[in-house]
Amino acid sequence: MKYPKLRELKEAVISLFTPAYTSKFPFEPHVPFEKFRGKPVVDDKNCVGCETCANVCPPNAITFTDNREKGVRIIRRDYGKCIFCGQCQEHCITGKGVTLSDKIYDMAVFERDKVVEFQEKELLICKNCGAIITTRDHLLYMHKKLGPKAFASILNLNVLNQKLRLEEGQDTSVDIKDGLKRKDMFNIICPNCLRQVLVKYLH
Ligand code: SF4
Ligand code: SF4
Repeated sequence: MKYPKLRELKEAVISLFTPAYTSKFPFEPHVPFEKFRGKPVVDDKNCVGCETCANVCPPNAITFTDNREKGVRIIRRDYGKCIFCGQCQEHCITGKGVTLSDKIYDMAVFERDKVVEFQEKELLICKNCGAIITTRDHLLYMHKKLGPKAFASILNLNVLNQKLRLEEGQDTSVDIKDGLKRKDMFNIICPNCLRQVLVKYLH
């Protein structure tokens, strides 16, 4: 039989006379410690539905489904799978789409569906070929942030092409015109059929 070491005995005696480190939650309210990473809270106004957070979420708690018929992207966030790592907040392209709360920690439920949240974002679909380009909010965000630079790069097109899994060797060398002649609308080139798509701001 192994006897406890002197150091362990000392710790045991000290702990008898010191207050508990743990809280008595749920019998008493719990106060999270500084920089606590709690429930991710989405700000729909600042979320553009770009999919970045889904791509970096380690347990795949965030998933996206595009409904072509309805023209919407459905974002599903399952906090039953969330490990509160903060990657979604860290990589959010707008920097404000999702923030981990430092207060919301009580997420225990009997039904798993109660910790699943949904968002819907309008999709931008090419009128010529029917390819899903991205969400309207995402494109408008890039347009506002980068102006014509967002669409003048063949690299951007190639990234989209890759995402749409086009045939290898498809020609992407196209002339892209400045779309800022009118402030309420602009043209992009569909990464699938390479024809112009007019995008209008919603007022
Ligand atoms: S905190 Fe981590 S696990 Fe939770 S939704 Fe964000 S990226 Fe996924
Ligand atoms: S990365 Fe940010 S903007 Fe993009 S879908 Fe996630 S929360 Fe929304």
